[in-house]
Amino acid sequence: MAKTDVFGEFMNVSKQAADHAAKLAQLKDDVTAIMEQNAELRMENQHLRERVEELTNRDNAKAAELRGAGGMTKSKQNLEKIYGEGYHVCSKFYGQHLEAGESCAFCLDILYGDR
Ligand SMILES: [Zn+2]
Repeated sequence: MAKTDVFGEFMNVSKQAADHAAKLAQLKDDVTAIMEQNAELRMENQHLRERVEELTNRDNAKAAELRGAGGMTKSKQNLEKIYGEGYHVCSKFYGQHLEAGESCAFCLDILYGDR
């Protein structure tokens, strides 16, 4: 190998090394930016989870408030009371009197059907 080739080769390898160093620096910046974005998204995700939990708890509290003992809504409790006093609460016979000991499948479905 002639001396000029050796020098030329040295210059080439030096340039490649410089290019690689520049690429590494760029990659480091990119990775840093991605890590920062990742951290921000994690925080945002955490906040959103907390917000969802807060809203879910509020909804559950409201639902529990609407229900009395036995897990029934107040309007269903009223209907159950009316039925217990011997009157139909179904749309088919609403307000009509039940015979003593008689039960109505339509009324029972309205009162307990969705359990
Ligand atoms: Zn009925």
